[in-house]
Parts: sequence; structure tokens; C-alpha cells
Amino acid sequence: MGLKVFIGADIEGTAGVVSLLQCVLGEAEYEMGKRLMTGEVNAAVQGAIDAGASQVVVCDGHGNMQNILPEELHSEAELVRGGIRESLQMQGIDDSYDAFLMTGAHAMAGTRRGVLDHSWVSRMVYNIRIDGQTLNEPCLNAITAGYYGVPLVMVSGDRATIEQTKAVLPDVKGAVVKEGYGRYCACSLHPDKARALIRETAREALENLAQFEPVKVNDPLCMEIDFYRTDMADAAELVPGMKRLGARTVSFTGDPEQVFRVQELVLYRLKYEM
Ligand SMILES: [Zn+2]
Repeated sequence: MGLKVFIGADIEGTAGVVSLLQCVLGEAEYEMGKRLMTGEVNAAVQGAIDAGASQVVVCDGHGNMQNILPEELHSEAELVRGGIRESLQMQGIDDSYDAFLMTGAHAMAGTRRGVLDHSWVSRMVYNIRIDGQTLNEPCLNAITAGYYGVPLVMVSGDRATIEQTKAVLPDVKGAVVKEGYGRYCACSLHPDKARALIRETAREALENLAQFEPVKVNDPLCMEIDFYRTDMADAAELVPGMKRLGARTVSFTGDPEQVFRVQELVLYRLKYEM
């Protein structure tokens, strides 16, 4: 039996993607964004297979979670698609997996030279902290994976995202597919080159799997969220156990699974209500 690999896929960190026109349902370049995203996901799947994976599950983790083109997906991969779900980018992760990879990742809100920088929901969240540390989505996902004993081994995205991830998780292999000049401008590798780099980085990471450790997850875990506006904190405060730390800041402390679910409820469900 070969490796069982989980790939969490976002879109903003894909080579060639610089605009919300490429990331939002109904916008002019969204179909292009979907194709570019699918191409990079396929490269990571192939890299996993090159390294001996026998099962690869891809989790579509952007927006409505229906971005990856199913018929263009690598034929050896399975696809988690659509909502409502328990976890935006980690739906289905459990302790049967050997490794977690992330493609198309972007930097956290407020990152200079981070293309389309945000933390989960760009219209709602300034920062999200776990046990006092402000984290980007790859690191937040690494905590979820770590809870199940699964290490994050590779991330692809722009340079700011890779550097930000490695500042927290230095062992993670990074595939830099673009250099951001600002939030809406970057110099990207050609998609063919970006895909070759992702394939190679995924293979190399998985062939050296023994050198990666899952993130150690505290229990209880404390999550704090700074919202844009007070009404968002008013709504989040309705969740039982949520504490109000300030006009725009809430915190929730619980066992890790509770925190993951509350994170999802607040950030994913509320975005449709606001
Ligand atoms: Zn996204």
C-alpha cells in the first residue's frame, strides 16, 4: 500500500492569478482561474504519484468550493467538492492520511506583496490567531492536519506566502510560482513551468516524508478573530462560548475539534449572512 495524500487547493496563489476577476463566480476571467487552478492541482497529484502515492484526495477549498474542473482533474485523484461542509480546505482529513499538501495558497490579510492577501473571508477578517499567533491559511490548515497526526509537507503560492509559512513551519517545502508586486500584480512563471515546479516539489517532499513532523496541537486551543466591523463580532458572539474581547474581536477556547467547527461556522457560514 502506497502513501495516502491529502491536497487542499485554493486559487489565489496560482501562477497567472492576480485578480478577483479570476476567483469569483460570474466574473469575466473566472473560467480561466478554474483552469489554471486545476492544472496546478494536477501537478501536485502527479508529484504525489511519482513519490509512490496510491490514494490522493483533493479538497476544493475556495469560495463555493466548486472551482476544480472534475473532468480535467488527474484521473487518479478523488475530489471533495461543494458545501455545506465542516472544513473549507480540510474536509475529510483524518488519521488515515500520511501527508498534506496545499496548492494555490495565498498570504494572510495585511501581507505586503501578498497577491490577493486575506484570511478566510476577505470582507470580514483582519486577523486570526491561534494561541496568540497570527497565522495564514496554510498554517491554520496545518494545525487541523496536525490534530490528526498528518504533517504539512508542501505549499505552492507566491513568495510572500511561502516565506510566511516557512517562518512558522520551517521544514515545509515551498514552490514559489509568482513574485507579488502588490495585492493585484505579480510576475508569474508560465503555467507549464509552475506545474513542473509543483510536481517536482511535491515528489521531493513526499520522498522525504520521514523528516516532517505533524504540528503539535494544544488542548484546549484558543482562537481569536479580529473582524472588519462591529456587527460581524456581534453576530459571532451569538455562538455559545464565544467571548467578546473588544468591539471587533472575539475569542473561543475549546478542544481542537470544537475550535475547528466554530472557525468554520463563523467564517464560512456568516459570510453568506452579512
Ligand atoms: Zn481562496
